[in-house]
Amino acid sequence: VGHTAQVMLRLQDIYYDFNESENAHSIHSLTGNRHEAEKSLKARARVVEKLDNLKVLVKGDPLQESNAAKLDSAIRFRFMMIQSQLEIQDQENFMVRSPAVNKVRNKIMDMMRIENMLMQERQEILRESSDKSTFAVVLALAMAILLILLASVIAMREYSAKADVEQQLLVNQGELKNKIQLLDETNKNLEQFAYMASHDLQEPLRKITTFSERINSKFSLELPAETQLYLDRISKAASRMRTLIDNLLRYSRITKSQLEKRMISLEMIINEIKDNCEVLIQNRGVVFSHNTALPEVIGDPTQLTLLFQNLISNAIKFTEPDVRPVLQISCATVTGGEVKELRPDARWEEYYVVALKDNGIGFDEEYLDKIFMTFYRLHGRSEFEGTGIGLSICKKIAENHGGFITAKSEKGKGSVFFVYLPKEPAAKLNNTLLHEHQQAG
Ligand code: ADP
Repeated sequence: VGHTAQVMLRLQDIYYDFNESENAHSIHSLTGNRHEAEKSLKARARVVEKLDNLKVLVKGDPLQESNAAKLDSAIRFRFMMIQSQLEIQDQENFMVRSPAVNKVRNKIMDMMRIENMLMQERQEILRESSDKSTFAVVLALAMAILLILLASVIAMREYSAKADVEQQLLVNQGELKNKIQLLDETNKNLEQFAYMASHDLQEPLRKITTFSERINSKFSLELPAETQLYLDRISKAASRMRTLIDNLLRYSRITKSQLEKRMISLEMIINEIKDNCEVLIQNRGVVFSHNTALPEVIGDPTQLTLLFQNLISNAIKFTEPDVRPVLQISCATVTGGEVKELRPDARWEEYYVVALKDNGIGFDEEYLDKIFMTFYRLHGRSEFEGTGIGLSICKKIAENHGGFITAKSEKGKGSVFFVYLPKEPAAKLNNTLLHEHQQAG
């Protein structure tokens, strides 16, 4: 369309300049005005120039190409006539101007008509193609909308799936919370039960002891030797049962809820235990060696004393009678990451690990988990006195403090017991104390 418009414009220019040349020529012929002759000459030069340009423009269109050629020869013919008229000033020749002029004008008109038709055709094509492009644009737009819709549907689905997962997570968390609560309650009930049972068992036990003592004091002379022996065994069994019940009571009293935490020096705890067990230590000639200074920890002094007392008395107890017990106590700080390898549920950033190494009889590590269970013993009573509750108390106390206990040993080569206690920041203790103070208030 742009090209056709250019051709049309050129034709119009040629037409205009041609007419100007003709008019100027006519005036000059009639008036002899030289200025008009020059005007005509200039217009003819422009026509020739534009005609060359027109021929270039219509190249490729055979019909217009031949028309342009015809126009060219008509114009040149006419200009030739003008030139010769000017030269001979022949009036007659001048009169025959009309057909030659008309020929040029008609040819220009023909070409313009053709270009006009072309223009219409091309505009039609343009409209069609623009319709097509409009269709393509609409199609692209529709597809884009479709894609956006699709993306939104997917996003919605993902969002709702995520919401489902989150919902499920919440439900699971809720269930877990309930189960933990239930477990806590069950543990509390069990502790309560153990306490009640051991407490209630004391009464019949007291009666057994009292009556067997009475029989013994009243009828000891009359009783046959065999009955005496049985009575003796009854009172021994009763006294053992008392020890068991006492230990069970002690075990059930060690609860987390009754913890009285404060900053306490482990060094002081060990010294206190040494005082408590002075006789035993002296009798056995126990040697203590502290490899490192013991730190201050946050904990319940009574429970921690019980924990280390059980470990120390075990270390002495489970050393052959003819061997002088040597007890090494040391302490180190370990990161929560290192502890996690032992206990995946470790949640503190740092722990103190207190190690108690003895030169005792040791034990087979196969039983490591079992020795921390209530009433589990690896040795008979005839070998070593005990009820099998000491280590289970240690385990419970360590766990009450957010830590744990474990050991390494080899039969005949001594044992090392490791107590892990969280290295709680002092700020936390202050908060705990403040909280306790507020509660007390
Ligand atoms: P008890 O000392 O009354 O037997 P514990 O619960 O303290 O009960 O210990 C359980 C068992 O673990 C002991 O019977 C003993 O076999 C073993 N054990 C504990 N401490 C040591 C130790 N230091 N060396 C060797 N074995 C030990």
